[in-house]
Amino acid sequence: MSLCFHACKVVDTESAFDKSVFAGDENLVSDMAEFNKRASVAVAGDEIVLAKGIWKDAELVIKGKGTADNPIILKVEEKGMVFMEGQSNLKISGSHIHVEGLVFRNGHTTSGSVISFRSSKQDLCNNCRVTECVVDDYNPVERFDSDYWVEIYGKNNRFDHCYLVGKRNKGVTVAVRLKTEASRENNHRIDHNFFGYHPVLGSNGGETLRIGTSHHSLSNSNTMVEDNYFESCNGELEVISNKSCQNVFRNNTFHECKGTLTMRHGNEILVDNNYFFGNRIVNTGGIRIINETQTVTNNYLEGLTGYRFRSAIVVMNGVPDSPINRYFQVIDSKTSNNLMIDCDHIQLCAGSDEERSASPKNCEMNNNIIYNTQKDDLFTIYDDISGISFSDNILSPNVNIPEHKEKAVEGFTHEKLSFRNDQGIKRCVEYPGIGPESDKPRPTESNTGVSWYPIKNYQIQFGTGKVIEVEPGDNTVYEAVRQSREGDIIRLIGSGEYNQTQTISIPHTLSVTARAGAEPVLTYETSTLFSLENGGSLAMEGIKVSGAECDDYSGNSVVRTSRFSMINNYKLMMRNCEFVDLDVNHSFNVVRVYKSTFADSILLSNCNFDNISGDVLRMDKEIDDVGIYNVENVVVEHCTFKDIGGVAVKLYRGGRDESTNGPILEMNNSTFTNVGKDKRNKNNAAVALYGVQYADMNNLKFDNCRNLDLHLIVGEPVITVSDSEFTNCKLVSNDEAYVRKNFKVQ
Ligand code: CA
Repeated sequence: MSLCFHACKVVDTESAFDKSVFAGDENLVSDMAEFNKRASVAVAGDEIVLAKGIWKDAELVIKGKGTADNPIILKVEEKGMVFMEGQSNLKISGSHIHVEGLVFRNGHTTSGSVISFRSSKQDLCNNCRVTECVVDDYNPVERFDSDYWVEIYGKNNRFDHCYLVGKRNKGVTVAVRLKTEASRENNHRIDHNFFGYHPVLGSNGGETLRIGTSHHSLSNSNTMVEDNYFESCNGELEVISNKSCQNVFRNNTFHECKGTLTMRHGNEILVDNNYFFGNRIVNTGGIRIINETQTVTNNYLEGLTGYRFRSAIVVMNGVPDSPINRYFQVIDSKTSNNLMIDCDHIQLCAGSDEERSASPKNCEMNNNIIYNTQKDDLFTIYDDISGISFSDNILSPNVNIPEHKEKAVEGFTHEKLSFRNDQGIKRCVEYPGIGPESDKPRPTESNTGVSWYPIKNYQIQFGTGKVIEVEPGDNTVYEAVRQSREGDIIRLIGSGEYNQTQTISIPHTLSVTARAGAEPVLTYETSTLFSLENGGSLAMEGIKVSGAECDDYSGNSVVRTSRFSMINNYKLMMRNCEFVDLDVNHSFNVVRVYKSTFADSILLSNCNFDNISGDVLRMDKEIDDVGIYNVENVVVEHCTFKDIGGVAVKLYRGGRDESTNGPILEMNNSTFTNVGKDKRNKNNAAVALYGVQYADMNNLKFDNCRNLDLHLIVGEPVITVSDSEFTNCKLVSNDEAYVRKNFKVQ
């Protein structure tokens, strides 16, 4: 690649020359100088065509006045062949500007947004359209440097048929901004977009679409959001955060999204004819209702497992005389004609607490079908529901009729219903009119976004590559990893010692496994064995790791994350592994993580940890107490922890933010012997769970350890401890009443 000293396009100059001269397209521009020359004088009817190739650090600005019949057009020579990379971005302002076919990838924006419907504070867009554009994994290095991918200002703009996938840093993917009058009552249309995989952020600020902010939430936005496809948009609790009035959400599909369409602020919202498919995946949610005059009708919700604020339907309690940024009471809102199948939770008066004490008023819930043959208790009612009138709601025969003040709530009947498949949904035979009634096609990945760009699967998957076999010896694993590619499996085929004199960097998804019957032992002479770089994930299976040969320094580890921000989430799996003699010096950890790193999941299964001076798993590097944490899911099963100086497991999530759902811990069938007693372990705990939202712990044995410490701080944590024994140690909590009420501990 040639060096560019100015913003320029890296392309084979000969072919560009051919195109511009011989193809005779006088609108074709090949570098930023040509682009700027044309863009600066663009008038109605002008067309600018970006030549094929990679445009690096291209900051495209178009200001101009087109007309409805003669817009100013920015397009590409060939769709899917023009790439905006490095620090590229687009700003448009004026009127009737039409942009089509840009792909942003391999870089990030430094201007606050990738695509902006304004070129300065004063210069906004009206009647403009951005269509068939792609933003793909276009992220900064730092996960808490925030930006938007798309910011929509002005009025009457359309953002459609775009594909946005892999937003990983803090900041909303698409934001409709209402800062001034010139951007309110905007009649924007956001339609036929494909919102692809959005990994868990582990913090507030991971919304996929936000309309307004609390500050302007009582203004009308009048934005139409229809025919969009949201796939695994898991950034945070709010897939969509509505924060303004009179918006419409119609005929959108939410496929396996771990969050909800939230009417967080603003009134008179219509949520009609949308599809929510959870496919039984944990934390998949539906619709959350707050504020006044909200209408939730004709929606289809299936297989949603989410609990609390992620339930299929959530009607919140409000704050009396709420400040603008807190929770307004739900008033005059209606939930009717929705079809809910196999959804696990419906919550009414959710979030009820000392502050949120105003229960819903003058609301109705009628003509809904709520069918779940697998679960009987679907409703949770936290406060007075006399402000909601219920009528003609049908439940499957097994589902308990909700009760309030020990009386069955009227307006629910049991009925055995039958369902037929109807283009991917289940239609009730007896009441075909309940549920979606639109004759428009349901949005899918094939009728939204663009047709000319590959759909990206950014989920982390192990074992998708080739097998690389490795024999015992010096640095054999190190060499194999250096030659590996995404998804490969490094297979240790012989028994014996695999000694590493260099730290092994893991740059992509990799498995390191033992061949059946082999008993490999990994030793290393450095301070860490594996270093997870940004983009790396690791699965270990059947490996014994010994720290006997390590550097005689404090702070060694077996696996550590990058010391710098990791924009990519990672996974770490350890199965049937053994970790011994990690004690050459103090504070030797099995896993050592750093700030601004985030694990989607960590699994310790059937592993033995023996003679370790530091911690096994300490995930407590986010200490700002703003709701940020280091890991979403932790599973510890069938493990033994013996003679561990530090903690076996510590999870930390500080602050009172409610927009995330983790950390989540499952821990079972494990024993802890002499854990946590090193004087450097300041937690006075063998297992310390601080701000954990969900923990299921059973069949645990603690013998002669420091305590199991539960610190409950925010939300409505679901913590269970059962069938467990504590000898010479105990379970302690800041909320002893909760512990007494909920736990059966032997
Ligand atoms: Ca949020």
